[in-house]
Amino acid sequence: MSLTARDLLQKLSNDAGIPYQTIAKKVNRLMAQGMGLLESVRDIAIEHKLKASKYQIDAEKIVQEAEKILREDYTQTLMISAVLGQMVESRGKEKFPAPAFFAYIETLTRIPDAPRDTRSESSTEIEERTTRIIELMTTLVSVLCEWSEKGVIGVAKDCPPSLQDVARAVFRKTKLLQGGLWTCISCGNIVNVSETRALMCTTCDNSISKSDIHRRFDQMAGRNRTSYGKTVSEDNTD
Ligand SMILES: [Zn+2]
Repeated sequence: MSLTARDLLQKLSNDAGIPYQTIAKKVNRLMAQGMGLLESVRDIAIEHKLKASKYQIDAEKIVQEAEKILREDYTQTLMISAVLGQMVESRGKEKFPAPAFFAYIETLTRIPDAPRDTRSESSTEIEERTTRIIELMTTLVSVLCEWSEKGVIGVAKDCPPSLQDVARAVFRKTKLLQGGLWTCISCGNIVNVSETRALMCTTCDNSISKSDIHRRFDQMAGRNRTSYGKTVSEDNTD
């Protein structure tokens, strides 16, 4: 069973003997019309006389893999969070979709604190993990949530019971965002999106020193990690 949209599309491309790009374009078009990811893939499968039920994505396994990555190492998780936070705020092609970011925050709150190790991850390792998390989270929201051309409109019929709370949180936060509101990633208060700074409300932003990335992400999703204390070194060694 596939874990990411890319794997699933590749499988369909192989089975149907159609180039990946053609399949991807078709899926994008169907999803823009409000069809779900799995629905679109199965639609194309049937069109090519393939067994639709073969094309599944296991949402629970996606969450398990994401949790495994985020539990690996505390500093690495901070770096991933920082990159995703920047990407969700960016406006260009690099933009990380807000629903996927909300799913990330939900995943982060489900895991116990990651161990803080002394090993320093190479930037390549962190980049690889970040790319994987992006793929997992964008796939996850496309499976858990029901979509229309306007974006997330509810919880998908396919959503497993164990992940319905995640889907509901993503839906609720996305709806608020569409209405011009944002949920502060630190305190969880709902604020006007134009008043946020670095994904936080102005109160939280003011209370956290901009240079102190550790403390900043310690407070992400309202988690209290004060027991870890402050780190001494703040420089990013390559
Ligand atoms: Zn706040």
